[in-house]
Amino acid sequence: TSFSVNAYLTAHMRTVPDWPAPGVQFRDITPLLQNPQVFRVMIDAFVHRYMAPELRPDVVAGLDARGFILGAVVAYELNIGFVPIRKKGKLPFTTVEETYELEYGSATVELHTDAVKPGDRVLLIDDLIATGGTMMAGKKLLEKLGATVVEGAAIVDLPELGGSDKLRASGLSLFTLVDFA
Ligand code: AMP
Repeated sequence: TSFSVNAYLTAHMRTVPDWPAPGVQFRDITPLLQNPQVFRVMIDAFVHRYMAPELRPDVVAGLDARGFILGAVVAYELNIGFVPIRKKGKLPFTTVEETYELEYGSATVELHTDAVKPGDRVLLIDDLIATGGTMMAGKKLLEKLGATVVEGAAIVDLPELGGSDKLRASGLSLFTLVDFA
């Protein structure tokens, strides 16, 4: 029997019911970070994929906030730079911004205008894809600056929410390690 990254990571996920609101099954990735063997298997799965010459990015962009943890380590291992996409009001220099709709209200994310250059090939990373709104906003920010997103990557996809289908329909290639119904 061969080792399955998917099954190994799934076994180490924690699901917290009714958090942060009733009816939400929160898929908590913190146990994957806490266990050094699991952390390494997870990071290596990303690094191995993006080492390949055809997918190798110029820059990693991480989505606030768990995307920072993953993205920074992956960028370091690939020997490329890391840039943060942050919730509005946190970045000190000039920014581009993108507002998107949430279930209740809206959210705005920002990126420094010098974070990427036109033509840069960017790997966009977050912990989880739910409705896909956050990753879509990140893609739009990078494209506003003339960069190309080579792939969106996350640990977890919640395919039933339709976010990953919507992102793929927009032309974004996606790579995820674990699916939850
Ligand atoms: P979305 O924009 O709907 O794709 O939501 C993705 C963002 O919200 C990610 O940054 C996740 O960290 C967080 N998120 C949304 N739903 C969940 C969930 N069920 N479990 C854990 N994190 C979630």
